Amino acid sequence: MFESITRNLGDALGSIARGRLTESNIRDGMGKVRQALLEADVNYDVAKAFTQRVTEQAVGEKVLKALRPAEQIVGIVYQELVSLMGPVDHSLAIRRGELSVIMMCGLQGAGKTTTCGKLARMLKEQGNKPMLVAADLQRPAAIEQLRVIGEQIGVPVYWEEAARSNPVQVCVNARKEARAHDCNVLILDTAGRLHVDDALMKELMEVDNKLMPDQALLVCDAMTGQDAVNSAKVFNDALELDGVILTKLDGDTRGGAALSVKAVTGVPIKFIGVGEQLDRLEKFHPDRMAQRILGQGDVATLLETAQRVLDSDEMERQQQKMLEGKFSLDDFLKAMAQIQRMGSMKSLLKLIPGMGQMAQALDALDGMDPDKDLGRVRAMIQSMTLDERRNPEKIDRSRRNRIAQGSGTDPAEVHGLLKQFKDMSGMMQSMAGLGSGDRMKKVMD
Ligand code: GDP
Repeated sequence: MFESITRNLGDALGSIARGRLTESNIRDGMGKVRQALLEADVNYDVAKAFTQRVTEQAVGEKVLKALRPAEQIVGIVYQELVSLMGPVDHSLAIRRGELSVIMMCGLQGAGKTTTCGKLARMLKEQGNKPMLVAADLQRPAAIEQLRVIGEQIGVPVYWEEAARSNPVQVCVNARKEARAHDCNVLILDTAGRLHVDDALMKELMEVDNKLMPDQALLVCDAMTGQDAVNSAKVFNDALELDGVILTKLDGDTRGGAALSVKAVTGVPIKFIGVGEQLDRLEKFHPDRMAQRILGQGDVATLLETAQRVLDSDEMERQQQKMLEGKFSLDDFLKAMAQIQRMGSMKSLLKLIPGMGQMAQALDALDGMDPDKDLGRVRAMIQSMTLDERRNPEKIDRSRRNRIAQGSGTDPAEVHGLLKQFKDMSGMMQSMAGLGSGDRMKKVMD
């Protein structure tokens, strides 16, 4: 995500740093910053006000006379990005021992039904007892979709035959059902449409008036940029939203929605969807997002994902094996599977400071796709016998040929993998001597 805005902002700020730091150079550079924001589909007024604020601070005496003025300017841009998207607000107004109602709205295809499931899953993990309500009677498949999601995450779904009911009645009945089952959160999956229209707003306002939800959240597709922001404005006028959940930030989004929605509507982004799977919901952190936009990585999210997704017992077993020099190709395969649960290699690289550009560079070099390469490595290891995985030194030329044939690779590639593995094992042994085990453990704790 945000590849082009990161590149363009980097170029704009780089041009300021390279030139002599005069007021006119800074103003020129800020023109480029504004251009970068507009190209990322940031709202025009937001982009204009943003660059004005940064310019005012950047041309001040304090900055121009500072020891490293260019760095100071990047610092100002960072702070302004954070306040544009902030402050942090993850509150959901959930009360224990009482039923809280969360009303989810959004246009069709924004990811509303999926996000209802993600939210229910997250709340359940936090010890709540949620119930999902299929109140989208517009899209016939939505009820079934929500029921499947409920089944996957072990959360009850209240539904009625669409032809025999209406959305308000479904929600009212669901509330009774939730109380009877001691649930403490009711998540309403309301109707979506392709475009905002009066009938939709009327239906949502009826649900809103009758149920008086504790939270009204809008699900917006980040890929649609300014359209997402405009629809947020309309929904907010009708429903007084408490928050926005921005979806599809794992995709090729330009950043306009993330950067404008709070500034235009005053409604905070509370969570972000970063994948189709039901565990791909993250709290929104404006500071982390600003770091990513500026190409500075996001180690905090990387560590959080690792803690959430990785099996710490298995990691510890593998770590122990590494330290004892017993780490086999089989373990390597298991470790790879664990890491891949955290997301694609490319998306992980982007979270590491300084590696964002690396991921882009890999894109440009044909045939250097880390995810594809991992797939080939997996195929090679899976074509080995268990004995070979444990004792790779047994793999001679004829075994190498067999493995290459079985995995659709070539013998040189198999040779390369074995060499890499040997080097890695050697490195791990020497790292063990440096006490890196403790350091790695610390990261995982
Ligand atoms: P609804 O019409 O708003 O209820 O949308 P759905 O929940 O059916 O989602 C529409 C499509 O978007 C589905 O294919 C989802 O899997 C996908 N989707 C939802 N959230 C995300 C996300 O955060 N990332 C990605 N990549 N896809 C998402």
